[in-house]
Amino acid sequence: MNINIIGAGLGGLAASCLLANRGHNVTVLEKNERPGGKIGEVTAEGFRFDTGPSLLTMPFVLDRLFEVCDANINDYLDIQPVNPICRYFYQNGTQFDCYKDNGVNIAQIQEFAPNDVQAYKKFQEYSEQLYERTKDAFLFNPLFGLSDLSSLNLTDFFKIDAFKTVAERIDGMFESTELRQFLKRFTTYNGSSPFQAPATLNVIPHVELAMGGHYINGGIFELIEALTKLSSKLGVTFQYNTEIKRIGIADGKVSGVTDVDGNHYPSDLVVSNADAAETYLNFVTDSEVSTLKQKKISSLEPSCSGFVLLLGIDKSYDELTHHNIFFSEDYQREFEQIFDEKMMPEDPTIYIANTSHSNPRHAPDGGSNLFVLVNAPYLSDQYNWQKREDQYKQKVIRALEKRGLTDLEKHIVYSQSITPRDFYQQYRSNKGSIYGTSSNSKLSAFLRPRNKSRSIKGLYLVGGSTHPGGGIPLVTLSAFHATELIQRFEE
Ligand SMILES: Cc1cc2nc3c(=O)[nH]c(=O)nc-3n(C[C@H](O)[C@H](O)[C@H](O)COP(=O)(O)OP(=O)(O)OC[C@H]3O[C@@H](n4cnc5c(N)ncnc54)[C@H](O)[C@@H]3O)c2cc1C
Repeated sequence: MNINIIGAGLGGLAASCLLANRGHNVTVLEKNERPGGKIGEVTAEGFRFDTGPSLLTMPFVLDRLFEVCDANINDYLDIQPVNPICRYFYQNGTQFDCYKDNGVNIAQIQEFAPNDVQAYKKFQEYSEQLYERTKDAFLFNPLFGLSDLSSLNLTDFFKIDAFKTVAERIDGMFESTELRQFLKRFTTYNGSSPFQAPATLNVIPHVELAMGGHYINGGIFELIEALTKLSSKLGVTFQYNTEIKRIGIADGKVSGVTDVDGNHYPSDLVVSNADAAETYLNFVTDSEVSTLKQKKISSLEPSCSGFVLLLGIDKSYDELTHHNIFFSEDYQREFEQIFDEKMMPEDPTIYIANTSHSNPRHAPDGGSNLFVLVNAPYLSDQYNWQKREDQYKQKVIRALEKRGLTDLEKHIVYSQSITPRDFYQQYRSNKGSIYGTSSNSKLSAFLRPRNKSRSIKGLYLVGGSTHPGGGIPLVTLSAFHATELIQRFEE
């Protein structure tokens, strides 16, 4: 079959490999001049930065992608565990280096939160159980038809802790503010608030703490280069600088796509890696998608966005390891500002990826390449980035100087900011969201758009705004699900 894929983000690239491997004739049409979408790279003045993801979890999902395409991932990528996985800095001076080695973590917890050691062990068991109970039903399954629901065990459903929030469960288990903040932060991995999302998301700590945090030697962008290489080998055609405007529909079935210049690309199937909101609300006409579906899609809350600073520094800070988090004082207030008030937090939690710690070649002459990320609200009228970008950049730099990166500003030799507006303009992600849809509602796992459209025949969807969600492993899984559904319904 001839298949057009809209977008060469991770979801589109992974789907292109899987579908070409099944013998389909695949063309990827990408608006930008290069692949990768939110997984981007900037090189400037001797510095190299990843502009999107910096942490890889569940690398076995990528192993499987290459394996299914008869390729060996080790011939394409050098994936290494990062240790410590992350260094956490608290405002009271406590520092916690989180390792995959549980013994090392427990020894530190014994120091800063002796009363919570047992609770921590209990939490680990609970998080593992959540993973075991949810993985088949919500992750490794397209969750499309009745047959997919068979892995949803009703007894398990009441044991996945969907009725409390992440924060309520954690606050009920721990005394220590440090451990509370540390465990709540994992909810941000899919762009949600720990104070709203169901406690089921307490599954994420298991994914990182028990399975480890990983890095791709050379940078996460290597993944995009590897997938582009693999898909080209499998016969996929890429066309860049091609922005799709319409999905053509004839006799109730897709007939191809049309770009902004009016060029038509006929195909039997269309896989959209563009945001699901864009796909259902802008690529098809009102008569082609029901009002109910439009309402449902419009009501989905986007995930949070991010404010990024790429800082090239002429020195290295001994305080920093590869991944670092500087926590805010009042986590609840921070999330209220982001999700309820749609404002940038006054006292933000600041994440820094410093890949020059692992790859000294990423910065010249002993310098460092700091990728600084602050969670941001998705775009709304509440926050005007054009007016406030510089002011917020200064705020972040001042905060880091105060938290131990002395004289940071004086050592900046290269700097670039990326705001939620850029995420919208460059990748057309819904309101600049960076992880697709949020999981702030109890039903979000069920409401997230599926990998096959029920209303438009021949339309499939992949990417962070679709099932099972955002982040590298889940987006890759969305490509597996779309491919499985194409196999089920079309082949
Ligand atoms: C700052 C940041 C930090 C992150 N950190 C992590 C992390 O540490 N770990 C992790 O696992 N994940 C992380 N993520 C999330 C991860 O990057 C995303 O979930 C994933 O890359 C999304 O892939 P995607 O395929 O859904 O979409 P995208 O990357 O958005 O790709 C969509 C593609 O479609 C193209 N497109 C859109 N509209 C059209 C159109 N009309 N015509 C043609 N092409 C179109 C876009 O240009 C883009 O190339 C982070 C993201 C960001 C931005």
